[in-house]
Amino acid sequence: MEPVTTLRTPFIAGNWKMNLDHLQSIAFVQKLAWALKDAQHDYSAVEVAVFPPFTDLRSVQTLVSADKLELGYGAQDLSQHDSGAYTGEISGAFLAKLECSYVIIGHSERRTLHDETDEVVAAKTAAALRHGIVPVVCVGETAEDLEKHGASAVPVAQLTRVLESVPADAEIVVAYEPVWAIGSGQAATPEQAETVCAALRDTLRPALGEEFASRTRILYGGSVKAANIASFMRQANVDGALVGGASLDVDEFSSIARFQKHVGI
Ligand code: PEP
Repeated sequence: MEPVTTLRTPFIAGNWKMNLDHLQSIAFVQKLAWALKDAQHDYSAVEVAVFPPFTDLRSVQTLVSADKLELGYGAQDLSQHDSGAYTGEISGAFLAKLECSYVIIGHSERRTLHDETDEVVAAKTAAALRHGIVPVVCVGETAEDLEKHGASAVPVAQLTRVLESVPADAEIVVAYEPVWAIGSGQAATPEQAETVCAALRDTLRPALGEEFASRTRILYGGSVKAANIASFMRQANVDGALVGGASLDVDEFSSIARFQKHVGI
């Protein structure tokens, strides 16, 4: 199949989850930056970002700024509130001060383990945009949803709810992550990913217009690795990947980021 060209810059995002403390984050980011530099990675052709735990962000910010790294970074969550009596929560204002470009919102682990509803995800998306941070909004169906409703219905419904709090001039990233594919080693097929990502783009169009739909990046996530990234990136509506487990291995993650060098793309 011919490579697909679009105006959307491919985006490879690494969600570290609750792994790597702030000292480990410094070593990891240094190694990743070296690996990509060695490979003469062009960040303007493929954007790369990491999503460390909150406690690492100041260290990552300092390193990125001191070494003038082109690597992006963001947080894994934020509060829907800006300040006040919300013990344990982190404001988007704090993340903006740490120069986070992105924040992951509505990851399936937050939805499942912390009961985050579509309403909360929508409120957090609005909070990110209020603070000038690009939300990476995660949607995806469980195995049970897949069986009952097919692949697209739940992610499309989740995205529709979030779009109510997004203005047409905003930038968001959408991550389609089938829950059954996360951390399971069983990725969706490229065709499955393309079908749902196309349905998500079709959802953006009537809600926020053609321009918004054609410039918004839609990522696939769920057991992505160096061996399968190229097959996802060949799909017309897949603009990158949200990577969990494989983002914790410098060689594997930098190889994913260099998917354009892989045979056949
Ligand atoms: C994730 O947690 O967002 C994810 C996609 O994990 P993994 O790549 O390990 O499946």
